[in-house]
Amino acid sequence: MPRSYVHEARKRVGPKKQRIGPIIDRLAVEYTDAAIALRFRSPLELLVSVMLSAQTTDVNVNRVTPALFEKYRTPEDYLAVPQEELERDIFPTGFYHQKAKALRGTMQMLIEDFDGEVPTRLEELVRLPGVARKTGNVVAAELGEPEGIVVDTHVRRLSQRLGLTRQEDPVKIERDLIRLVPRADWGRFPHLLIWHGRRVCIARRPRCDDCVINDLCPSSRV
Ligand code: SF4
Repeated sequence: MPRSYVHEARKRVGPKKQRIGPIIDRLAVEYTDAAIALRFRSPLELLVSVMLSAQTTDVNVNRVTPALFEKYRTPEDYLAVPQEELERDIFPTGFYHQKAKALRGTMQMLIEDFDGEVPTRLEELVRLPGVARKTGNVVAAELGEPEGIVVDTHVRRLSQRLGLTRQEDPVKIERDLIRLVPRADWGRFPHLLIWHGRRVCIARRPRCDDCVINDLCPSSRV
């Protein structure tokens, strides 16, 4: 897209500081049930689900976890079987060798350093083996203590299209969003963008005609 066109489009919609409120409000009305798609019943199940969701879909993880969580109910359960058995149990989620290793390392640390409980603070979560900032952010947000904003492929694409960031790197995108999005919305903001990204602002062909925020978006084709 020519630079002058981008500049014009940005001018047309106004500064992002003024747009972020209406963007969140309208998406929240549109997607009242926007929430994490992974199914879990406890902080431990949440942590395991999020770890398994790396490089695969939430649907895929949800197919595996009912039987998994019947068999593995405590951190000790994950260490009571040989790693190969755990690998077989999570095989359909892909990268099963690395994931099984990370799960076992995490369970070990939960037992040794956290009394078998899943910590809620991001700085503690990222100490767990195989738990990067994104995973930690998802878990902390679900446990009620968001300390950052989850940036996945949808959040990244929509933030760029909406002119909320010019960055490519997820860490830098998160930094821009943290400055912009009110803290009270850090938890739900990614869910709203993910739902909008799956239904309307689709990667290949955004449906700008049907978009409730098209007048606030510099990339609108309407
Ligand atoms: S107007 Fe188009 S590009 Fe902008 S958020 Fe809506 S669907 Fe996406």
